[in-house]
Amino acid sequence: MKKIFYVAMIGLLIMPRLGAQEQKGAAAEMMKNLQIVEKPEAVPTRAQPGFGSINARDMMTIMTFLSSDQLEGREIGSRGYDTAAAYAQSLFALWGLKPGGDLPKPAGGPFGPFQPQQPAAKPERGYLQEFEMKEALESQTSAILESGRSGFSRVSRSFAPEIDFVFSSILPLEVSAPLVFAGYGISEKSISYDDLAAIDVKDKIVLILSEAPGKDDAASPFQKKEIKEKYFPARPSRHGGIDYTKAAAIIKRGALAVLVARNSLSENGDIHREILARQQVSDDKPILPDSRKKLLIPGSKAFPWEGRSIIRISREMADAILETANETVESLQNKITSRYKPHSFRLPGSSSLRLSNQVRYQLLKSANVIAFIEGSDPQLKEQALVIGGHLDHLGRRGEYIYNGAEDNASGACGVLAMARALALNPEKPKRSIVFCLWTGEEEGLLGSRYYVEHPVFSMDNTMAYFNLDMIANSWDEKGLQRMLRMLNVKEGEELLKKIKPENFLPLSLSAEAPELKSSLQEANRSVGFDVLYRETAQNINRMGGGSDHASFAMAGKPWAFFMTGMSEIYHTPADSMEKFNGATMEKVSRLIYLAAFLLADK
Ligand SMILES: [Zn+2]
Repeated sequence: MKKIFYVAMIGLLIMPRLGAQEQKGAAAEMMKNLQIVEKPEAVPTRAQPGFGSINARDMMTIMTFLSSDQLEGREIGSRGYDTAAAYAQSLFALWGLKPGGDLPKPAGGPFGPFQPQQPAAKPERGYLQEFEMKEALESQTSAILESGRSGFSRVSRSFAPEIDFVFSSILPLEVSAPLVFAGYGISEKSISYDDLAAIDVKDKIVLILSEAPGKDDAASPFQKKEIKEKYFPARPSRHGGIDYTKAAAIIKRGALAVLVARNSLSENGDIHREILARQQVSDDKPILPDSRKKLLIPGSKAFPWEGRSIIRISREMADAILETANETVESLQNKITSRYKPHSFRLPGSSSLRLSNQVRYQLLKSANVIAFIEGSDPQLKEQALVIGGHLDHLGRRGEYIYNGAEDNASGACGVLAMARALALNPEKPKRSIVFCLWTGEEEGLLGSRYYVEHPVFSMDNTMAYFNLDMIANSWDEKGLQRMLRMLNVKEGEELLKKIKPENFLPLSLSAEAPELKSSLQEANRSVGFDVLYRETAQNINRMGGGSDHASFAMAGKPWAFFMTGMSEIYHTPADSMEKFNGATMEKVSRLIYLAAFLLADK
């Protein structure tokens, strides 16, 4: 799981500083979404044998191996990951689950050895779903502004990569085109404000500002509640959220590239501070000798923030570009906010920008591990519920091994334990259940994104997805107190008196999925967590790419995301076995097993 999401996870539970009325509302809202089970009910008999088989001892045994030094932190493309995958597939086979991976490749290929005509035995699938990715080894980027009339008076100015500009993608780009300034790049019909109305962006490079006009001006039309949350979100997404949505929309209108300059002065000259921050070394995070692999799946649908032609630039570079029109970012902000009317224009015909991102790649292969239990109903077995968690982690960096016990050997163990449980449970739910262990989550949810585009059961027949990412840790008093402090509301204490910290489970799920929520509530009546349900709108930009449920959200599927407590050891070499006892992992896995059984049996 990426840091952004860890922070957002806290944010999800913790409302931004709120006014008195809002505070009351927040605590009441939380109260409404809290399910506390005084005395757990009996587990439905039909699901009981499997439920009982899920136990901490076996899960800790598997987790110890997966997070051992031998597997060197299971980085995608490493022997450690491939060994973990081979181990998982042997367990699926041992427990008799059906393979959900690739069909065997035809031996010898079109010109290979002659095969005497044999009766065509139905080819058997394996458990591995293999796919190739492109790994960006190095990229050379440049940005050169040319202005002035042709001949001697033409001047060109080049900017510093990673200081003045950062490409947001590892996809190659070569463009040179005239420039257009398009304000904030906003088309907001609800307040009849449109920066793009009066200009043609086709085949141009478009400069826009982030956020929206009037960030701190109560009179701004962008201060209306739902609009404000859209353009000035309380929890800005690390992926640039709305700015990338704006840029992606402008690209759709035919622009060749979009430059996004920061709107807020406080972030002036932010580009390299942001990079420094990203590279900052904190006590619990040793220096990573080299950053993570930069990977992409050729032809795969990109997340909004992965657009090849979206470039973040510094205020200095934006002012240099606007100088050709005798403007600055500040002068244009003032023009726009004076009447909250757009002020978009084409820069003088003579000025153009040349952008280049040359990338050297190599191919890398990895695999998801997939198995399924077929449903018991002749019709409904064609439909499936998917349960998954990523198996990969950060690998080894110099002498540091990132064992990734919590992230995400714990979730992988949950998936395996539930697969065994359902395999040995005599009765099967009506619909099928698919168990997936993903590769490449740490490098951009690659395994789950590949699966969504190459599913075992079609996406139309996929009813929902349960995601397990970090399920071994539990909340403690300190964590809940922190939540109380952040809520800074008195009522919070009443609420927290009701919750037993070690029994607390914050549960994010997609909104508008009543069946999914009711199955979880029904299952929890037999398991007995103090669950706080957080329903999130199916807005990929709001979610950011935090964990593998985002891939299913992107495909419009209902999802539930299971992550237990917070821990400071996240993404550090300290994330190792001795920190865990398996109790929470067992309980969460039993909850998901039962909820999945009930949902697939509806
Ligand atoms: Zn993770």
